[in-house]
Amino acid sequence: MAASEEDPAVQRLIDAFGGQPVAAKERLVGEPAYLSKRLQFASGSEIIMHDDAVVAVVLHAAPTGFAANGFNLSQWIQGLDKNATLADLKAAIDAPRTLGGMGFMLDGAYAEPSFKNNRGWNDPGNLLSISFTVEAPQRACRPEDDDCPSCCDLLVRAKAPDSGVYVEQTIAALAGAAAAGLIIESPRWVPLADLHALHASRLMERVESQLSCTACKRIICLTLYRESPATFEFTVFNEARQRPLEAIPPVEQWGDDLRLAQDRDAMHYVDHQPGSWFLVEQQGTLFLEARYWRNSMVDSSALIRLDQAETDSYRAGGHDYLSELVHQIDKSGPHTDGSPYFQRDLYRGPDSANLSKCFAAAIVNHTWIAEQRRGS
Ligand SMILES: [Zn+2]
Repeated sequence: MAASEEDPAVQRLIDAFGGQPVAAKERLVGEPAYLSKRLQFASGSEIIMHDDAVVAVVLHAAPTGFAANGFNLSQWIQGLDKNATLADLKAAIDAPRTLGGMGFMLDGAYAEPSFKNNRGWNDPGNLLSISFTVEAPQRACRPEDDDCPSCCDLLVRAKAPDSGVYVEQTIAALAGAAAAGLIIESPRWVPLADLHALHASRLMERVESQLSCTACKRIICLTLYRESPATFEFTVFNEARQRPLEAIPPVEQWGDDLRLAQDRDAMHYVDHQPGSWFLVEQQGTLFLEARYWRNSMVDSSALIRLDQAETDSYRAGGHDYLSELVHQIDKSGPHTDGSPYFQRDLYRGPDSANLSKCFAAAIVNHTWIAEQRRGS
């Protein structure tokens, strides 16, 4: 692992996989870019390299486009064949498990099996492949996903060599894929539609949109910098959420007339109590998102439109009144239909997906993650 194609150990591996590959594919990934190269062998195996260093070896137990029969696992790992279940893998590989996922920690590498539809690991015949990777599976994108058909072609590069991201075209490609449902825009980052205007305003040092792929789960981070060229990176969830995000300046400072008109209709942040509630306002109506506990382990949130009496009490009692109201909501068990808040919870209603999205956009500068990222 991590060796180059010319390395004797890699050459031995290529020989063991049957010598000449049936296909060799190359593509540039991301910006700054790396070259991803896949060597595919008729034996049902693949070697994936990033900039000439081996990052993954994949043994396909099931037939693939380049190998009509799956890889003969028993040759490589005693006691395994294409009918192996997770229990068989545990017995045969006999190594500590990775945290999360189904992987194993080997000496200097990780092994991660994948099963049909991400389940069925207890039944024979569902094993698709076993990937051996340099990076821990949950901490880095899977090298196999370099070719994900849903998201691998969304970066548009500028025509001149080495001139980086063609920003307008890339934003259009991402917006198109989002409209087609291939990727999902994160409401916790700068909306794709605002990226260009915020960047042009020069009010933020870095402006970033994040979108996750529904197929491979990688998160695309498109970032425009005030002082340096744009980047387009694929990351995993935990890495993506820790990326820095400055507070987004008020729309009056950077939005055009149309954007300002949209903002007048949108939800706006009013107040919050960390870890407990958020209050937003939309055209004079107040909405309270109250965190509650289903049991001692599992929490959830309800979105309640404040009625006139509650609104009046808030005007009189302020922050403390809302904390008390949230306490009452929690105590009533709003996930059970005996609670007066069960029916009022807008997250249970038909418009819940749209409301969560508007709500997330309204509080984007104020979530605890945002505050942590700014170190405040
Ligand atoms: Zn993808």
